[in-house]
Amino acid sequence: MNDPFRIKRLCLIGVGLIGGSLVRALRKANAVDEIVGCGRQRASLETAVKLGVIDRIEQDPAKAVVGADMVVLAVPLGAMQAVFAAIAPTLSAEVVLTDVGSAKASVVEAAKNVFTELPAGFVPGHPIAGTEKSGVEASFAELFAGRRVILTPTAQSSENAIARTRAMWRACGAQVVEMDIAHHDAVLAATSHLPHMLAYSLVEMLARRDDSEEIFDYAAGGFRDFTRIASSDPTMWHDIALANRDALASLLEQFSVDLQKLAAAAREGDSDYLKNIFTRAKQARDRYEKKDRR
Ligand code: NAP
Repeated sequence: MNDPFRIKRLCLIGVGLIGGSLVRALRKANAVDEIVGCGRQRASLETAVKLGVIDRIEQDPAKAVVGADMVVLAVPLGAMQAVFAAIAPTLSAEVVLTDVGSAKASVVEAAKNVFTELPAGFVPGHPIAGTEKSGVEASFAELFAGRRVILTPTAQSSENAIARTRAMWRACGAQVVEMDIAHHDAVLAATSHLPHMLAYSLVEMLARRDDSEEIFDYAAGGFRDFTRIASSDPTMWHDIALANRDALASLLEQFSVDLQKLAAAAREGDSDYLKNIFTRAKQARDRYEKKDRR
């Protein structure tokens, strides 16, 4: 039977962890005919061909999008505007254009700076899944299975483009939800961007100490669990911190007030304060864990 959502040619700009995992999943679901990969480094694109992640390489973004019915931008946030500018002259009016960027207002702003009017085919998106690794070698087809993907359509996004983007992520096993752009950025600042800042800042603060070698030698499971995400790509997180700076800075300020209260309670031996904080946090974390397992 003819599947109206089947992708004939997908052009993937940025063949890394997220883009590579997306096309691996689509291939596994038999939801795509051909995948054209585009990026700056030929060697990593050749690896992607060898791994069977993409079918062919086209390093010029303007040429890569020609003939595609789906274009996915999976580059760092800081590269989005340059890629929009590169593809704008050759992008067809019928194509669905989406991205996977971790903050959404900045991507829409980048698109607005390039297109006089946002294309009807443009549907910003963000898969809520990832690892601390980067590059196509780290990609795997199951990354999005059972995970959420948030679409943040613009006022110009057509129903057809939204439906096609939704279908693409559903084919990867993801659960697709829609959200307002500002709400997405506020929620993600709290659940993802703030924890990454805390992990980076904790590891960097300990690494600066004279006894850092000894500290890391004796670090156990708690340290490993809490700091895994500090191994994430610095460029990507630099871009996210700048792209979502307002929401992130407010949360960091709020968090540092709470940290100061915690420090005062520890210094003064305020046992009730400490017990209350830990108990409430454990209850909230246990509730989240239970919900996440459902
Ligand atoms: P990644 O593994 O480093 O992949 C990024 C890819 O983009 C690389 O293959 C890189 O290849 C290419 N690239 C970089 N700059 C480019 C440019 N100017 N033009 C064309 N290609 C370029 O990173 P990722 O983790 O997949 O992240 C990609 C996007 O996904 C980011 O926007 C990020 O915010 C979002 N995201 C990440 C996660 C996560 O946990 N990692 C989760 C959700 C969303 P070349 O160097 O060869 O160009």
